[in-house]
Amino acid sequence: MGRLAEVVGERVRRDEPLAPYTSMRVGGPADLLAVCRTAEEVAETVRLAGDYGVPYLVLGSGCNVLVADAGVRGLVILNQADRAWVEPDGEVRAETGKLMAGLARETVAQGLAGLEWAAGLPGTVGGAVVGNAGAFGGDVGSVLRTVTLLERDGVVVERPGTWMEFVYRSSRIKRQPPSERPVLLAATFQLRPGDREALEARMAEIVHWRRTRHPSGATMGSTFKNSPDAHAGRLIEGVGLKGYRIGGVKVSEKHANFFINTGDGTAADVLALIRHVQAEVELRLGVRLEPEIELVGDWAMEAG
Ligand SMILES: Cc1cc2nc3c(=O)[nH]c(=O)nc-3n(C[C@H](O)[C@H](O)[C@H](O)COP(=O)(O)OP(=O)(O)OC[C@H]3O[C@@H](n4cnc5c(N)ncnc54)[C@H](O)[C@@H]3O)c2cc1C
Repeated sequence: MGRLAEVVGERVRRDEPLAPYTSMRVGGPADLLAVCRTAEEVAETVRLAGDYGVPYLVLGSGCNVLVADAGVRGLVILNQADRAWVEPDGEVRAETGKLMAGLARETVAQGLAGLEWAAGLPGTVGGAVVGNAGAFGGDVGSVLRTVTLLERDGVVVERPGTWMEFVYRSSRIKRQPPSERPVLLAATFQLRPGDREALEARMAEIVHWRRTRHPSGATMGSTFKNSPDAHAGRLIEGVGLKGYRIGGVKVSEKHANFFINTGDGTAADVLALIRHVQAEVELRLGVRLEPEIELVGDWAMEAG
């Protein structure tokens, strides 16, 4: 705790509930939470955890994770490192705690095309790169040029974007076991000159689309991946589960792939709903839905 306080000052907390740091608003406490405001703070905190043999988990906006009710053992590093630069050749470098939607807005304001699809996308650059986030015909994999990684041995390396081996909503890092994953410190994107007004109009359309089609409230967005032949939401709707509820969590009536925490939902409710929906869709339509969201933390009790 003492050495951690030297790195992040008062931004270290013990037994900190994680629900407020997630978009689903569920999840128990982290043994320790460190809020990092620069990539250097992230790197030093990770190295410190390594020195003491403390397991750690990096969180961005917590939009794509389901944190266990029992919380997370060890250290959670909340990445709020959000500096970004535009180089003269149009390459954009961002620390990975930068919000994707903010980066899209700022680059478009400078007449740069390539990130407008991320208008209104919740989450950080780090989360977007790990999950190969995408929408409206764009995705991270198409514009990512390089990543700066902190490897498990404490060494910082720069890799080309192709190293991430992106597939639909996944990457090389997401496929690794959590205990072996490197930490993303920064990413560069190759953008191109565009018509600022046209790009801004496109972003406004996208934001409007999100506001009208997506349910509001506490959610992780798409719970399951879409399959090449069918949207997960349509399959769930097809088996009559719109509005289906377990505890304080329900399938949205507006978009069946979105689960909503109605206020007193727990992570166990979410997991039970995931399993119920998977079982019904598989039984009745023969399709196995694969979660897009990731379970993190101490699930030993609940998942057993
Ligand atoms: C309303 C809503 C709408 C959404 N719409 C879309 C959409 O249209 N398209 C889409 O693709 N997604 C969508 N999502 C999902 C979400 O926006 C993305 O998955 C987002 O990229 C997650 O970013 P995050 O910062 O919240 O990641 P987190 O949930 O904090 O983390 C996700 C994973 O990445 C890891 N991670 C995060 N940062 C780092 C780092 N710096 N280094 C190493 N690992 C890291 C975490 O450990 C975790 O494993 C939506 C979500 C919501 C709530």
